This record gives sequence, structure tokens and C-alpha cells, in this order.
Amino acid sequence: MSARLLEDFAQISCDWFWEMDDQFKFCYFSYRWSELFGRSPEQEIGKSRLQVAMNADDKAFWQPHIDDLHARRPFRDLVYPYAFDDGHVRWLKISGQPVFNEAGAFTGYRGVGTDITEEHEAKRRLSETLEQLQHANRAFTLVNSELQRQNQRLTEQENEIRQQGQQLDVALNNMAHGLCMFDEQFRLLVCNARYLELMRLSPDLVKPGVTLREILQHNVDVGNLPAPAEAHYEEYLRELNQHGAVAFERVLLDGRTIAIRHHPMPAGGWVATYEDITERKETEAKILQLARHDELTGLANRRVFGEKVNEALARVRRGQTLTVLLLDLDNFKIVNDTLGHSAGDALLKTAAQRLQDCVRETDVVARLGGDEFAVLLGDLERNESGVVADRIIRSLASPFDVEGHHVVIGTSIGMALAPHDGDDAESLLKNADMALYQAKEEGRGICRSFVPAMNIRLQEQRKLELDLRGAVERGEFELYYQPLVAAHSGEITGFEALLRWFHPERGMISPADFIPLAEDTGIIGPLGEWVIRTACAQAASWPADLKVAVNLSPAQFRNKSIGLIVASALGSTGLAPRRLELEITESALLQDSDATGAALHELRGLGVRIAMDDFGTGYSSLSYLRSFPFDRIKIDRAFVQDLGRKPDCIAIFETIVGLGRGLGIATTAEGVETPEQLRVVADLGCSEVQGFLLGAPGPASRVPELLQAGRIKAA
Ligand code: C2E
Ligand code: MG
Ligand code: MG
Repeated sequence: MSARLLEDFAQISCDWFWEMDDQFKFCYFSYRWSELFGRSPEQEIGKSRLQVAMNADDKAFWQPHIDDLHARRPFRDLVYPYAFDDGHVRWLKISGQPVFNEAGAFTGYRGVGTDITEEHEAKRRLSETLEQLQHANRAFTLVNSELQRQNQRLTEQENEIRQQGQQLDVALNNMAHGLCMFDEQFRLLVCNARYLELMRLSPDLVKPGVTLREILQHNVDVGNLPAPAEAHYEEYLRELNQHGAVAFERVLLDGRTIAIRHHPMPAGGWVATYEDITERKETEAKILQLARHDELTGLANRRVFGEKVNEALARVRRGQTLTVLLLDLDNFKIVNDTLGHSAGDALLKTAAQRLQDCVRETDVVARLGGDEFAVLLGDLERNESGVVADRIIRSLASPFDVEGHHVVIGTSIGMALAPHDGDDAESLLKNADMALYQAKEEGRGICRSFVPAMNIRLQEQRKLELDLRGAVERGEFELYYQPLVAAHSGEITGFEALLRWFHPERGMISPADFIPLAEDTGIIGPLGEWVIRTACAQAASWPADLKVAVNLSPAQFRNKSIGLIVASALGSTGLAPRRLELEITESALLQDSDATGAALHELRGLGVRIAMDDFGTGYSSLSYLRSFPFDRIKIDRAFVQDLGRKPDCIAIFETIVGLGRGLGIATTAEGVETPEQLRVVADLGCSEVQGFLLGAPGPASRVPELLQAGRIKAA
């Protein structure tokens, strides 16, 4: 290319050309340089690039370029800032390549330069903008992710709240109690279904936000609350909330009782719980009634009676009197045993009614248990109380109609007066009880007033009872034997075992005195068993044609094992069953007759014989003779002793003996004391006799002697 062409190109080019010597100092700039920068080439000739560059001391920037130069490598598009004397900077982009002469020696660099200040500026601004944009973008991303996080947290919280809300809902609506919550403005915050149900409120009306006044008004409208109560109630709650204490109240709602509790909340408002306590209240009332009254008759019970006596005693201290009557129905047990418990209950109810009819309304009638009643009479003199007692006796003596049965009972009454017979409830009742005991002793159907002497007697009775316990173990009992004699031959056929108690202090005690006590206390069980075993054992040593008669108490039939006891006594002693004769009285048959009948048949099945004792003293003896095939009838000594005095006794006696003969039942006359009696009963056809005339009861050791005497007599 010619120099001229080059010159033209340099002239029209937007770039400039430059040249450096082998020392890297500028030695040429083309025309465009001066045009562009207003600087003559001379101003630059002889300077190195670093000398004209603005950031010459930036080694990191320049080092790669310097390395290129020293290695004589071409370089392209090196961009650097060029500083003018007035301080302004322009950005240049240069490219260059090394130059060698023909001999190959390095002579410097030649290159081209371009002013890229505008482009650089644009680029810088662009990158700045870009950077700002990126920055903004990053910020946006951060904000965005933060927002997302917050959003998620909110969702979680919302879920949690919703879940808690659901749990709360479930909990609220499954509560047995009604619940509602009001804010301090008396507006409903929340309530459960039970509340609406209990208060008979409509869910359409009672919603969060509704005011208490509106609810109350609704209550008034549906008749839950009386109209004036509403304003009252609001005032009441306002006061409650001010005091901040839990408050209770009960409201009656169409026959139900609702218990309400108000719990004020610390921030104002309150929570109220509602409970239907109707059933509980009814139960409480029933328990209270039961605790204070006898369920069967509705009369006051023992506890209430005690309380009433104490109340009356306070009046006694102000000069009044009070009377306590204690009653025991006579023969009640017989009715209960023969007609059954429901008849017994009906009888007690009617008796209770009659008792109440005999006294004033201010007097108190109580049932103390079983057939025991008590009456408290206020402010009467002894004779006036006596009149009331007589009225009661007459009233209870008149026949009862019990489930279609004509029943006659009666009552015995013990009476104690305060202050004379005691000044506290306990001693009054105790003394009336002693008087009652006395009345029963004297033959029932009467009233007895307490007298101090009774006290001593009864205490003795109590002591006897205590002594009786353990008397079997201490060996204080003995069996006496009384001969049973054939009426026609005078021969001893056997002996009746009669129980004797040798009390360490009181000496010999009659069975008539302790058998009832043993029956009452249950001691008859072990005692009766001892009698059977002992009698069997002793009889086993007698001549084989002699029998032994053993008395059984009615109470022993209550024990199911009587058959077992007898069988075991026979088995262990080896006594032949037909040598044992068991004597029972009518009262045994009066009890649960099915069970007694079964027990008698069981005993019969063992081969033992059964005698009816004391015949003629009971109630409807003849029917009992039909109910069980007795082997023997023992005619009570009352008939024997009256034989000579009362002519009709002979007729009765004869009838019984004839009846026995007709039924194939042997007869024994009890209590034969005189030869005359012996002659009459023998003439009347009685097969066996027993009595002092033939031999009094004596210890077992005397049996051989009695046998001897009997034989002598018979001979
Ligand atoms: P019971 O079975 O009728 O016995 C006859 C009672 O009459 C006996 O009285 C006897 O001593 C008495 N006695 C006998 N001959 C005459 C007489 O000629 N004149 C008079 N006045 N009395 C006579 P005891 O021994 O006092 O027995 C009374 C009742 O006690 C007995 O009457 C019997 O029911 C009962 N008893 C006696 N021992 C036992 C027993 O081991 N167990 C049971 N459960 N009761 C017994
Ligand atoms: Mg007897
Ligand atoms: Mg008898």
C-alpha cells in the first residue's frame, strides 16, 4: 500500500494510528489523534503509555500488558483511561503488534487506537443500571421470600388457630355443662350447644355479638324468666363483675333446677357455666328423706326422733314435760312368718297410720326398726300420757285387715317422762325401753311406766346375756334327765334331756330364764348342738330299749344344717336313730313352714322320731297335726293340772288322746304330780306320762338310780 493511501485512510478513519520504538516510547501519532484530543503529537512523543495513562500505578491492571510488550506479543482491545492536563479522562481502546526489521530485530510496536469514552460511559451506565437492577432484583427476591415466609407463617398460624378453634368447638359442644362467655360490654363472645339446650334458647337469636339484654328479653318472651327479673339480673351481674368473685345461683326453669356459676374474667366480662341439677337435687332430697324417715311407713326414723326429743328437752328446761312411749307390736313376728313379708309390711303401714291417728299433730311418731315404734308427747301429765297410751293399745288391738286376712295383734308400751325419769334423750329412751320390757313380761297389751327398780333388773338381764356368751366353752352347762314312763306298766321308756346352766355366781339357772336369751342372741346355735351331741352320747350308754327326748328350739330350724348336726351326732355316738325323739313346739311350725317342714322330713328321713311339745298352749294346734306326721303329742301340763278342777279339761284331754289314737300318734301327759292325775290320764288312754310323781329331772349320773326306782315302781 502506498504511503499516500495510508495517509488517506488515516485522514478519514475514526481511529488513530500510533507507533512506539523498541523502548516502548511513542514515536508517531496519526492526524486523527490531534483532531480528537486537540493535542499535538509532539506533546506525547517520547512518553511511554504508562506515562500518559491515568491509572499508571495500578500494577494489577498493567502487568499483563507489560508482559505482552516484553514478550513482543500482539495485543488487542486494551482499554484504559487517559488523563488530560485539565483533569478530565477519556477511555481509549488500543490494539498493537510488534514490528521487526528485515534482519528480524525488534524495532517497536505499531497499532491503532479508538476513543471509546462514549461507549464506555454508556456501558458503565448500563452496568451501573444493571447492577442497580440486580440489586433491586436481589432486594425484591429477599423481600419476596420474606413475604412468602411471613405468608406461610400466617397460614400456619391460621391453621393452628382454626385447629384450636375446631378443638375448642368440639370441646365446647361436648361439655356436659352449658357455657357462655360475655365481654365487658355484656356482649356474647361464645356459647355452646348445651347452653342453648339447657336454657331453651334459639341458636338463631343467640349468636356472638348479641347482648345480654337481648338474651334476657328473649328469656322473658319464652317464659324462662319473670319480666322484672331481667333488669335486676343485669345489675346483679354488673355488681358481680366489679367484685371479681365467683358466684353461684340456682334458677328454676319449667320444673328443672339449673345451677349457674359466674366466673368474672380478669380483663372484664365473665364466663358462666350452666348445669341441670334437677336429678341430683331430687336424689339429694330423697337421700335426705331416707336419712330422716323410715322408708316403709314414712314416719321419722330413730335419728330424727332423737333430735326431736332433744328439742323437746330444751322446753322441759323451761318448765314443760315430755313423754316418750316405746312400743313393740305383740305377735308381729307370727304374722310376718306365716303370712309373709309383704303382709308384714302392710300391717306395719296400717299400724303406723293408727298410731298417728292416736296423737296430736305436734306429737312425733317414729319407727325405730322392725316392729318397734316410739311416740313423743309434748307437755302432758303422766296420767294424760297414760290416756294416750291406752288409746294406742285399744287402737292396735282392734283387728287389722291385711291382704284379705283378719289379723289380731296388739302392743305393749313402755313410758318414761322428763324431767322425772331422765333429762337427756339417751336415758329417757333407755328407761322407756325398760318399762316396755316390764310390760311384755307382765303379759303384753299393757303400758308400764318406768320405775327405778326396773333399772337394776334390766342390768342383771344384760349381765346374764354377757355371761351366756362363752358359757358352753367354760363347761357351765349340764343335761338333766327326767324319766318318761309307760302309763299302763309304769316302766321307764326313756328320758327327756333338760338343760341346766350352773352359773358361777348365781347357781343353777332354769332354761325358761336363759333359752329365750340364747335364742335372741344366737347362742342357741352352738348351745343346741352341744345338747344334741351330749344327749346322744349319754343315751348311747343306757340300756338299748331306752330313748332320749331332746328339745329343739324354733331358732335351730333357721339353721339349715340341723339335719347334718343330728346325723353327725348319731353317727359319732352310735346311737340308733329310733332311740332319739326330737321335741318341737308349735312356734317352730309357725315360722316359714315350708323350710321347717323340709327340715322335719329330713330328720324323719334319718329315722329319728318327732314329738310335738306343750300341745294345747299355742294357736291352731289341730291344723299342725295335719301338716306333719308327728310320732307323739306331749299334752301340756296345764291340762293335766286342771284335770281335777275344770271338768271341760277332761273332755279336751280325752279329745286330744282320741285324736292321737285316730291318727296313730302316741300321747304323753306332762306334769303328772299326783297319783290321781296319773290314774285319770291313764284311764283316758294316754300312753306315756312324765312328771315329778314319776321322777324329777336329775343329773346323768342319777339315771341308773332312777331306772332302778322306776322298775321298783313298775313292779
Ligand atoms: P318342756 O320341754 O315342756 O320340759 C318339761 C318341763 O316341765 C321341764 O322344765 C320340767 O322340769 C318341768 N316338769 C316336769 N315335770 C313336772 C311336774 O310334775 N310339775 C311341774 N310343774 N313341772 C314339771 P324345765 O326343765 O325347767 O324346762 C323348761 C323348758 O325349757 C322345757 O319345757 C323346754 O321347753 C325348755 N328346755 C329345756 N331344755 C332344753 C334344751 O335343751 N333345749 C331347748 N331348746 N329347750 C329346752
Ligand atoms: Mg320338752
Ligand atoms: Mg313340754
